[in-house]
Amino acid sequence: MQQKTCDPAANGQNGKAVFGDTFKNQLSVTPKSFTVLNPTTCRCCPIPTCEPSVLIADEPTTALDVTIQAQILDLMRELKQRTGAAIVLITHDLGVVAEMAQRVVVMYAGRKVEEAPVAALFARPRHPYTRGLLDSIPTLGAVSKRGVMTRLTEIAGTVPSLAEPIVGCAFAPRCAYATARCQNEYPPLEEKVPGHHAACWESERMLAEAVA
Ligand code: SF4
Repeated sequence: MQQKTCDPAANGQNGKAVFGDTFKNQLSVTPKSFTVLNPTTCRCCPIPTCEPSVLIADEPTTALDVTIQAQILDLMRELKQRTGAAIVLITHDLGVVAEMAQRVVVMYAGRKVEEAPVAALFARPRHPYTRGLLDSIPTLGAVSKRGVMTRLTEIAGTVPSLAEPIVGCAFAPRCAYATARCQNEYPPLEEKVPGHHAACWESERMLAEAVA
């Protein structure tokens, strides 16, 4: 796919040249057009030739300060409203997910491990990896039930190499709920409750322990 940069002059804009090749936080659209954000003014050139059905925003707010992040998110909402396009947002920022998404897919080691409406996912995650991601969000002044300042939770270990075949659940070496079955059988993605899917043999046990 050949990527193009919008030309503000060609589109009747008075703005300065967009960052184009040098600015990586971009919204990719269809093979026929490419929309580039100008982080200086946070305004987007009009989509010149088409009305895309899907916008793919790959880490659009990474490494930006919160003011620019907010502008980028506003811009995405505006594009969605103007074009009617669906947005596929790829991000590690769960705050952005909570603010922007309707439906969330959690990926681990190249596979979908959980999928749910955003509110259900944040309220009752059904996969230990999702649970770990949510627990690792920093909270100001977080204290335990005994009133002691708590350490930030981390997911121990590292992501497995995909160069070798993975037997069993890819998350097992890092999972506090892993059993012998997890080491040998890959858990299929199953609908645990209507609209909420997870790939985990111990999903119910994890949920039970979370509320205990
Ligand atoms: S299948 Fe087992 S190892 Fe994998 S996430 Fe669930 S409990 Fe953990």
